Amino acid sequence: MSDGKRLIVIGMDGLDWSVVDVLMEQGKLPHFGEAITAGASWVLRSTTPPVTPAAWSTLFSGVPPREHGVFDFTAREAGRYRFRLCSATDRQAEMIWTLASERGRRVVVLNVPMTYPATPVNGIMVSGMDAPDLPGAVSPRAALATVLARSPCYTVDAMSHWFAERKVFFTNLWKMHRARHRLAMSLVEKADPELFICVYVIADRVQHVAWRDPPTEEVTTAYEALDAVLGDYLDRLRPEDELLLISDHGFQRLEAEICLNKVLSDAGLLVLDRSRCRTLLAKVRQRWVHTRSVAERPDGWWSLPPRALWFDAVDWPRTRCVAFGLYGNLVINLRGRDPQGVVDQRRESASLLGDVEDLVSSILGERGEIRVHPIAWDHGSQRRISPPDAVVEMAGYRVATWGGREFYAPAIVGANAEGHTGVHSPEGVCLAVGPAFGSGSGRRGQADALDIAPTILELLGLTQRRALPGRLLMGR
Ligand SMILES: [Zn+2]
Repeated sequence: MSDGKRLIVIGMDGLDWSVVDVLMEQGKLPHFGEAITAGASWVLRSTTPPVTPAAWSTLFSGVPPREHGVFDFTAREAGRYRFRLCSATDRQAEMIWTLASERGRRVVVLNVPMTYPATPVNGIMVSGMDAPDLPGAVSPRAALATVLARSPCYTVDAMSHWFAERKVFFTNLWKMHRARHRLAMSLVEKADPELFICVYVIADRVQHVAWRDPPTEEVTTAYEALDAVLGDYLDRLRPEDELLLISDHGFQRLEAEICLNKVLSDAGLLVLDRSRCRTLLAKVRQRWVHTRSVAERPDGWWSLPPRALWFDAVDWPRTRCVAFGLYGNLVINLRGRDPQGVVDQRRESASLLGDVEDLVSSILGERGEIRVHPIAWDHGSQRRISPPDAVVEMAGYRVATWGGREFYAPAIVGANAEGHTGVHSPEGVCLAVGPAFGSGSGRRGQADALDIAPTILELLGLTQRRALPGRLLMGR
């Protein structure tokens, strides 16, 4: 791609077709209507699990989570019984902006989750939600002045659990959104990018706390704001430009949270050393108070202490399986691989996963379905973090593994502690407008998160360094 042609990629975290369709029918999203008619659209199958860091990592690398290694906000440290927050430095994949930069394309990358610390690109990168502060989130460092000059109120994010009051959360969320879009508009016009990427997060943030069917006023307002965002890009689109709009997952009603580690511990698959639990109790109480106090600070989320503490109480030589992460990652304590492993991979792994599936299935009963997906990965490969051995998929449910409190939870199934009403669904949105895509047939096909990176590289005229598994969207 050259001669001033631009590829504009708009990410809308958590954007869901069901809401788009309802609001479009009410005439509330004119620009979505315009784009769907002018271009092509797909239901975009997310990653398993459909969680933000895993999905964006796949969307912009073209490889599945078992290769790039990011399955959730937390990960297991390779070869150890430790779980911690993960970051872009843990990811094992070449991102499209790195390849595009190396081949001399001018690049702008704004607010993509899991891009902290910001990496050098041929242009500018401002990291997304996992960045603890703005200075470390901007590459090159000197561009921080540009960011603040063009959008003085720019902040990395605004999450509901940072704020004690819902009203204050929404005020900060809108302020953050307006500042983000202001910077994006300035860069798309003045930085002359050949590849422009910006991720907007209001749909995700609002749907977590205000999801209902039909859409609530808060959700409607967020979608109308995103429609205005899309309109601003469509206004600036030149005839030769291409535009892709993608979401990393959709949304659905949150039925309940399940304390997966309590399920495992009640079944004897996870064993706690009670003596260590007692000595830990004081520490834990202290840690919990600390967590609550930092959580109320606007900069608090990323300064939370590592969530490894509770796993210190696990009696590993008697434990077969543990869960971590928000969407049910399972680690099997494998003999030969793990320091105190007890499970024989060849003879016992599959039946162990079958037991977990049966256990959760009997708890959910009529209320929901569960599937346990084994994750095949190379145990011998050099990694800082290890993929889980399986991922639990439960439509409408989220796993309560927050800080490990679930080991002692009074009930296995409960409401979300933060009052969330929405949870990720595996089906996101993909829309494309531009000469490569033709105009809308009204048909909405199926696409996969793996398809996005190869499509972007093709549109930029770049050859992949190695074959990616996804299929091009052009002509589909
Ligand atoms: Zn997301």
